[in-house]
Amino acid sequence: MNEKNLLYEGKAKRLFKTDDPRKLRVEYLDQATALNGVRKDMIKGKASLNNQITAIVFEQLKQEGIQNHFIEILSKHEQLVEALEIIPLEVVVRNVSAGSFAKRLAVPEGQQLEFPILEFYYKEDRLDDPIINEDHIKLLKIATEQEIRMIKDEARKVNEALIELFNKIEIRLIDFKIEFGRRPDGTILLADEVTPDTCRLWDEKSNDYLDKDVYRKNLGEIVPVYQEVLDRLEKNFNQK
Ligand code: ADP
Ligand code: UDP
Repeated sequence: MNEKNLLYEGKAKRLFKTDDPRKLRVEYLDQATALNGVRKDMIKGKASLNNQITAIVFEQLKQEGIQNHFIEILSKHEQLVEALEIIPLEVVVRNVSAGSFAKRLAVPEGQQLEFPILEFYYKEDRLDDPIINEDHIKLLKIATEQEIRMIKDEARKVNEALIELFNKIEIRLIDFKIEFGRRPDGTILLADEVTPDTCRLWDEKSNDYLDKDVYRKNLGEIVPVYQEVLDRLEKNFNQK
């Protein structure tokens, strides 16, 4: 492996430069973390599952008219993406109460929300990714008012498309986190990943977790669970 082109090593992925400055190679890692990296485990097989899941999801989103950074799969655990300047926001959309929302606002876990809730978190590990509002985003010059509007509109479209996509494979989309980046011309594009690491996915019939909560809550092995999500996606969306 050519490590000299390594741009960034994160908790779940590594980014490498390519010969084309407009493109990056993303390598998914066999690693799971929780509590902002405090808990960390090597999980064989996770990289390839998340790489393939996110590739199918991004491809489907493209077909629904939602542009994103995904270009192509390079290997089981690597993909090529458009190089972007990531906006340091974790954009969370919620359809059902769970996780930090359920805890912070005492809304019972599993309660359907009347309308999708959008939240912003400042992607800054030193501060433990605090929740922030639009005034904070403008004040800290993380994004302009116009960019915030675009991000909100796009996040809601992503939610609609993902609800439908997961519905086709008998999964309820509870909530998810996405990221956006700027192209050199300033346009904003959906980036990063859409996987069971970044979404809460409940089996429609059993309500079983098909996501990282299995790891967060120590409920068993995540590889068979992520494999189930990939199998259903492959069966439905007919990818090779
Ligand atoms: P973390 O940084 O939270 O540990 P990861 O291990 O997933 O997360 O690292 C991947 C990093 O790559 C993230 O910081 C993410 O913002 C960034 N990233 C995702 N897509 C792109 C892209 N298209 N261009 C540049 N950076 C990206
Ligand atoms: N999420 C994520 N990365 C984070 C924090 C949250 O992908 O750093 C996802 C998480 O998987 C869930 C959604 O965002 O689908 C909402 O997470 P929540 O705020 O409930 O946080 P948590 O319960 O993970 O602390």
